Amino acid sequence: MFKKSVAVVTGASRGIGRALALELADRGNLTIINYNESVEKAESVKREIVASGGEAVLFQCDVSRYEDCEYFIKEIVRDYGRLDILVNNAGITRDYLIMQMKEEDFDQVLAVNLKGTFNTISFAARQMMKQRKGRIVNMASVVGIHGNGGQSSYSASKAGVIGLTKSVAKELAPRGITVNAVAPGFIETEMTGVLTEEVQKNVEKKIPLGMFGRPEDVAAAVGFLTSDVAGYITGQVLCVDGGMAM
Ligand code: NAP
Repeated sequence: MFKKSVAVVTGASRGIGRALALELADRGNLTIINYNESVEKAESVKREIVASGGEAVLFQCDVSRYEDCEYFIKEIVRDYGRLDILVNNAGITRDYLIMQMKEEDFDQVLAVNLKGTFNTISFAARQMMKQRKGRIVNMASVVGIHGNGGQSSYSASKAGVIGLTKSVAKELAPRGITVNAVAPGFIETEMTGVLTEEVQKNVEKKIPLGMFGRPEDVAAAVGFLTSDVAGYITGQVLCVDGGMAM
């Protein structure tokens, strides 16, 4: 069996996922950088990790596809004989008011954000149960707790991620596996980069700490939840949101 812990991060080619991959590699894990389309960005994350003395591997997989996730997770287990950490970070938005929301947009958001989380857990949990050890962290959002006008599909997917997290946490706890969610507020990435300056200013007014967070703020929380010292924490939703959800 491979000596280092093995950590899978979905959607690790950019934004929060990139910061998660750097954090987990920095903590000594062999880090599997999953991406869907952004191969060059994923390669650059790998280069960054290797340049700072870490180990990383790229793996293309569309997490919304069940069979592809089966192949993805089984290949990792076949190559390294273990899977210690799974972070379900891949996510998309298709934001429209409910009257303009097309069925395919709603379905696609649910398919990546919620079903994608189910897909990888389905196969990762099997290996972690055999090991009697594992850490799963799912990326939710504060809008999955409070809702947000114009984001019904996204909020529904993230509320679903929270329900999935708590249920799976109960199922896997007897095997020593922890399952938690992290709920970011507004974080500076390409996802929020599409907001106009005016919208960004209005959002900032609603954040008690008065500013957007950085991907590294989320990575620090995930680093903690996946570490050995967090072994007694499961089924929780940790908000990293500058106080928005208070
Ligand atoms: P981002 O910059 O848009 O990056 C999204 C990542 O997800 C990319 O690496 C992308 O990879 C990957 N991805 C998308 N569809 C995929 C698929 N079908 N299969 C595999 N990977 C896929 O987003 P972000 O802001 O970093 O957000 C990361 C996570 O945090 C998401 O779950 C998001 O909902 C959540 N979040 C973000 C914020 C925020 O303010 N930014 C707030 C709350 C929650 P490719 O480019 O290769 O497709």
